[in-house]
Amino acid sequence: MSHVFPRHCHSELPTAVAGDGCYLIDADGKRYFDGSGGAAVSCLGHSNARVRQAIKDQVDKLAFAHTGFLTSEPAEALADLLIEHAPGDLDRVYFVSGGSEAVESAIKLARQYHLENGEPQRRHLIARRQSYHGNTLGALSAGGNAWRRQQFAPLLVEMSHIAPCYEYAERLETESLEDYGQRVAQELEDEILRLGPETVMGFIAEPVVGATLGAVPAAPGYFARIREICDKYGVLLILDEVMCGMGRTGHLFACNADNVQPDILCVAKGLGAGYQPIGAMLCSKSIYDAIAQGSGFFQHGHTYLGHPVAAAAALAVVREMLDHDLIAQVNSRGAYLETQLRHRFGQHAHVGDVRGRGLFWGVELVADRQTKAPFDPSLGLAGKLKKAAFAEGLICYPMPGTRDGRVGDHILLAPPFIASEAELDQALDMLQSALEKTL
Ligand code: PLP
Repeated sequence: MSHVFPRHCHSELPTAVAGDGCYLIDADGKRYFDGSGGAAVSCLGHSNARVRQAIKDQVDKLAFAHTGFLTSEPAEALADLLIEHAPGDLDRVYFVSGGSEAVESAIKLARQYHLENGEPQRRHLIARRQSYHGNTLGALSAGGNAWRRQQFAPLLVEMSHIAPCYEYAERLETESLEDYGQRVAQELEDEILRLGPETVMGFIAEPVVGATLGAVPAAPGYFARIREICDKYGVLLILDEVMCGMGRTGHLFACNADNVQPDILCVAKGLGAGYQPIGAMLCSKSIYDAIAQGSGFFQHGHTYLGHPVAAAAALAVVREMLDHDLIAQVNSRGAYLETQLRHRFGQHAHVGDVRGRGLFWGVELVADRQTKAPFDPSLGLAGKLKKAAFAEGLICYPMPGTRDGRVGDHILLAPPFIASEAELDQALDMLQSALEKTL
């Protein structure tokens, strides 16, 4: 009997024993194409030689040094590399162990920034409905996904939630895509005014919404308007690129596609590519300077900040992406994946929408294409599809529809950047077969 506390107590999971390129292999020798990179993590596949070597070399040299006493070469080099490619005036990198920690750090940094600036009344964070920013209590408070929040509601910090930018379900027929984007962006200004502009510390959003909506990019112009509103009221813009960043959506930083510059940016998953647990929070020079010239101390921290082995792995991951121009590959393979998805599923009676960017795609299932009515969530279709695909040998990431009927069941595809067209075709064959067996 296992003593591991699993995600689902009654699931019997095969044991993963090896990784080979885009595939995971279990103890019985069955191979699974990792069509979702786990959850958009394994961007380089599972056996990248350069990253494995970098980890071995770093362990042999220095495994750990506490950042209260010492910095390390890989953390310094990784911060330099990220800042060299980061948008706008992002200037400092705070390394953590994953996405929730990055978001948690961003929320606390936003609060402390305003304190250092003599504005202690700024305490409200505005986020969006149907969002996910992590499972620690601060990040969960920011998230607007009712199902994830429900049980812990009494423990959560009160935060505001405005509409996401989710045109498939919420754009009016009479509206252009641009007008829709402006309408939902306006909700931010309305909420800031309702709360009192002097009390708002920040706004957090994903440039391309991952798990909760299924690879949904914002309407053109949406983030430009959001930036304008944040600037008008001195509200910090925090972009959560934990899932959509690090090349996944066709730019090293996802916000580059929307031409928007955040004050704070969070990355994780693809940064370590699954080889090591690492996340990072990047912040602008002015935020860093407010603290450096004020109290001189960010009132936050974890034992494993800037872990040298994790930083060495991430440094090798980013260098691998840049040296082999894997982002260009994300765009070309992504275009291929989009064409194939639309060709195979675009006319399916129960596929309402196919959307995404780069190698990050969502397929939303609907009971009725005409009305866009989702299936009853109690049918658990996303979970059934995940199971059927897994039996075929395909890992894809499912999300159930919401009980309020606003979001349908969907699956997320986020294959490794190194996947060939032939491998993508095989993955889609498996998905097609799983879909036929599920619906
Ligand atoms: N933010 C986003 C957008 C995510 O998708 C996730 C995880 O799925 C997180 C934060 C939390 O990251 P982690 O699971 O590494 O704590």
